[in-house]
Amino acid sequence: MNPFIKVCGLTYSYDDEAVVKKHAVINNVSFEINEGDFVAVLGHNGSGKSTLAKLLNMILVPDSGEIYVNGKNICDDSMTDEDILEIRKSIGMVFQNPDNQLVATIVEDDVAFGPENLGIPSEEIRARVDNALKDVGMSEFAHHEPHRLSGGQKQRVAIAGIIAMMPRCIIFDESTAMLDPVGRKEVMNSIIRLNKEKGITVIMITHYMEEAARADRIIVMNDGSIILDGVPSYIFENESLLKECGLSVPQCTELVHRLREHGICLDKAGVSIEECADMILKHITEDK
Ligand code: ADP
Repeated sequence: MNPFIKVCGLTYSYDDEAVVKKHAVINNVSFEINEGDFVAVLGHNGSGKSTLAKLLNMILVPDSGEIYVNGKNICDDSMTDEDILEIRKSIGMVFQNPDNQLVATIVEDDVAFGPENLGIPSEEIRARVDNALKDVGMSEFAHHEPHRLSGGQKQRVAIAGIIAMMPRCIIFDESTAMLDPVGRKEVMNSIIRLNKEKGITVIMITHYMEEAARADRIIVMNDGSIILDGVPSYIFENESLLKECGLSVPQCTELVHRLREHGICLDKAGVSIEECADMILKHITEDK
């Protein structure tokens, strides 16, 4: 199976930043993402996560390296405007601040905005808007004014607006960062549902460990390079490397590491509370 996204030797500099940092903001980055994957991109502030997302969505053009989407080299000079539109349609982006992404005064008009711009026939737009609002659990707010909604609800409307354009992949760029814990949970649940139930490929940029732990794979970035890439339990085994990069591990993983220091060795670093509880229980029963 061909990967949905393939990135080879990607390098990018903002003119002034390259002088300050003396090297590129994205520095020889390579990875592959398959259709249906749920990948978190984790990294400290300034590690290059947003820049990488903008390169994948063709908002920025790399200095060198290649990006293939569905087998097509999107860095190729022969890309036409239609090709670029096709890429933007297949990879949607949800940003950090929901207020900057909502354009209409009624929720359903907002969700319809994207498909309207794609020239979709109006009956189909109606169906897409209804389905998208259902997917994020916001159907009952279809006739509400977006500015009266909570942060989490606004962000779910923004996600519905992207889903209505039927992308194959959605990049969430710190989409929960401005939300309260309830809003973050709502949005995380919507993201997971889109991936697991609709098969949409998810690339979720975050600096929250607990959120990254819910992905199937984590790519860790530091200073423009990938320093770790693997399943969450593998990533969180590397506690000291993560700490060197200004990152931590989820609290439950930290607990497993501390238990290890006291001679209580569990199989692996748990990434969720449930996993940790199961491992501790198993250890206790085996000990008896
Ligand atoms: P992250 O998303 O991990 O916080 P970014 O991709 O936003 O990282 O930023 C990576 C580096 O690029 C940082 O040093 C940042 O200051 C710099 N940078 C980001 N955007 C710009 C810009 N528009 N112009 C110049 N430098 C930028």
